[in-house]
Amino acid sequence: MAHNVTLIPGDGIGPEVALAARRVVDASGAGINWHVVDAGESQLEKYGTPLPQHVLDAVRADGTALKGPITTPVGVGFRSVNVALRKEFDLYANLRPARSFPGVESRYKNVDLVVVRENTEDLYAGIEHMIGDTAAESIKLITRAGSERIARFAFDYAVKNGRKKVTCVHKANIMKCTDGLFLEVCRSVAAEYPGIEFEDRIVDALCMQLVQHPETFDVLVLPNLYGDIVSDLCAGLVGGLGLAPSANIGRDAAIFEAVHGSAPKHAGKNDANPTALILSAVLMLRHLGEGAAADKIERAVLALLAEGRELTYDLGGSLGTSEFADAVIRRMNA
Ligand code: NAD
Repeated sequence: MAHNVTLIPGDGIGPEVALAARRVVDASGAGINWHVVDAGESQLEKYGTPLPQHVLDAVRADGTALKGPITTPVGVGFRSVNVALRKEFDLYANLRPARSFPGVESRYKNVDLVVVRENTEDLYAGIEHMIGDTAAESIKLITRAGSERIARFAFDYAVKNGRKKVTCVHKANIMKCTDGLFLEVCRSVAAEYPGIEFEDRIVDALCMQLVQHPETFDVLVLPNLYGDIVSDLCAGLVGGLGLAPSANIGRDAAIFEAVHGSAPKHAGKNDANPTALILSAVLMLRHLGEGAAADKIERAVLALLAEGRELTYDLGGSLGTSEFADAVIRRMNA
């Protein structure tokens, strides 16, 4: 059965990596009907918004989107399209796998962990105001329902993906109400999954242990702000931005995108590494139940990285974005 997927190419290097990922997915045998819509700065003049209504309608109708990065102006201008999409579709779970790739130079050789970040609450919701002009206040909102759905997501993910352990990350020793509630809910959800080991870590101690012994972690579940910071730390433990995929998952929609941004300096040069978006498409295919196509793409990408002969500039190679996609496709069909 063919799946309808919205493709949002994005800005900067977005269109180049999106085309590469689309070609690889098409060559994998997964039947996808792509519905291509544009968002970002290019749409401002025509629609008065970087996120036109027809883009939202497309994602709502298809329920699944693959998205290239979109530039967010700093300080002034429109608000982040990425954050707006997460809010609009209540994409409460942000999933970021981080693992060592054989053949790719990095500090560690044996990392294989998954960050499950709560994506809608916490200080990151930006509920803040000035108190006169002498102080500013931000509200850290953690709800039982929000904590429960992300904890359940983490354990269900662990069960479905053969993972052994979930670590709840918090600072409940200091924020006894908010992080205390998050930890309490994680503990009670853990009791429903006796086959999965459960532990908790205070976020500062976790950061040190991640740097010293990242191989001891499996699935991490975190409130929004710690999740934001720790997931970049985890990308840095392995191959870096060109290789880091992510998924934003809600009840009715899911959007898959690379962790990296639009890298404007590289736009139009056909030199960006499309691996992160290709691996995001792999997560998307698994989400759609197209495991065989996902495995085929992943095997081909891992083989190319391990051989180290056909790589983009960031990994020391000289292939362009589209030539790397050609190499993945050749490898899949070999
Ligand atoms: P960035 O990730 O775009 O780029 C930082 C540097 O990393 C680049 O200069 C480049 O050297 C390298 N890099 C990134 N992706 C690469 C790739 N695929 N292949 C090879 N090298 C790569 O980060 P930035 O410069 O901080 O952000 C640029 C814009 O992207 C900003 O407007 C930011 O808001 C936006 N952004 C969007 C998203 C998203 O759409 N989800 C995420 C992060 C940043």
